[in-house]
Formats: sequence, C-alpha cells, structure tokens
Amino acid sequence: KGLQVAIDGPASAGKSTVAKIVAQRFAYVYVDTGSMYRTVTLVALQAGVDLSDEERVLQLLEQTQITFQPGEPVQHVFANQQEVTEAIRSELVTNNVSTVAALPKIRESLVDRQREIARAGGVVMDGRDIGTTVLPDADVKIFLVASVNQRAERRYLENQAKGITTSLADLQAEIAERDYKDSHRTVSPLKKAADAVEIDTTTLSIEQVVNQIAELMQQ
Ligand code: C5P
Repeated sequence: KGLQVAIDGPASAGKSTVAKIVAQRFAYVYVDTGSMYRTVTLVALQAGVDLSDEERVLQLLEQTQITFQPGEPVQHVFANQQEVTEAIRSELVTNNVSTVAALPKIRESLVDRQREIARAGGVVMDGRDIGTTVLPDADVKIFLVASVNQRAERRYLENQAKGITTSLADLQAEIAERDYKDSHRTVSPLKKAADAVEIDTTTLSIEQVVNQIAELMQQ
C-alpha cells in the first residue's frame, strides 16, 4: 500500500512542481487541492454569485464534479467535464480564491472529497492544510517555503512564457496578500504541522527538493 504524502506551504513555493514529480517517481496519484478551491471560485465568478454568500457558493460546489487528468506540464482540471485548466489560473481567480477558501462550508466539502481520494494511499497531495487538517496522519509531511522575492521571480518567469506582463512588484504584493489571507483565516489557516519537515527551496533546485522528499519517503 502506498504512502500518504502531504506537501504544504505558501503560494508559489514550488509545491505543485515538486509534488507532481514525486508522484510520478513513485507512480502515485497527485492531487493539487489548490485547483479545487480555484475551480469553485471560477464557477462562482462565472455564475455571478457574491463570493461571500456561503450558501450559494456551497450550492454551486455541490453541483460541480471536479476531476483531474494527468498532463504536461500541468495536470488537466475539469468542472463537470468542462476543461478549466487555464481558466482557474487567471488573475481574477487568483485574486479571489482566498476569499472563497475562507468559507468554512466550502472547506468542509472539499476536505471530504480530498480525504476520499487519499483514503487508499499512494497519494501526493499539495495545499495549505493537508498536514494539519486533511491528512493529519500522513506518512510524510513537508512544508515548503521560499522568500517572497524568489517566489515572485518564479511566477514572473512562468507568466512570461504565458505572455502575462504583471510587474515583479505587483506579483510580490499579490503573493504577500494571499499568504496573509491564507494564514489569518479562522478555519485551518496555512500553518506548518508540528511534525512536518520544513524545506526552504530558495536556493535549491527542483531536483534537490524532490530528492529530499523521496529520501524521507524511503525511511
Ligand atoms: O495552491 P494554489 O496557490 O493554487 O491555491 C490557491 C488558493 O487556494 C490558496 O491561496 C488558498 O487560498 C486556497 N487553498 C486552501 N487550502 C488548500 C489549497 C489551497 O485554502 N489546501
């Protein structure tokens, strides 16, 4: 039976890149929980719903099946069979997702889905509350951090490839604001689990981070 691996950390610390490679190496399922919060945010924005209207947003979520398909360079995400892979990465969704992620009933509903996916093991799950709340008994818990500067630079380079021209200063502000909101919400805020291993990726390559995690998994 495969392990449960939890990878948490602030925005753009490299969680999804690393989690995906680790999952491939062990033939595990990779679950990007951020994309689930992003999908419900997108669906609510498209429906024109007030994002603080918890009941309405929950109603929409309950009508939305969220599924994944492996893909390169990113996993494909579907909302009721409709591909939303790119749409959930828009600036609008990125700047509103923390509001939706602070709604307790939305979290409860998505956490249920996440636990169901992880139940059989053989899973690498990345997010903000995996080690603390979703999978408190995970076999390996990682908390990835990197300086705000470094994270903004990574985002800047990713954006360049996509033709997005947000300035470095704006990206820094955006990342700092999302971290603040994610760490200060009432329900399962972004926080390192007491038994998580913290890895600072500021000066490490992707391969170095992946190797460190793989080693922890084999202990
Ligand atoms: O990981 P990503 O940056 O795509 O996550 C988008 C947002 O979803 C986060 O900023 C956070 O508000 C929310 N999130 C969360 N809990 C998770 C994963 C993501 O609250 N487990």
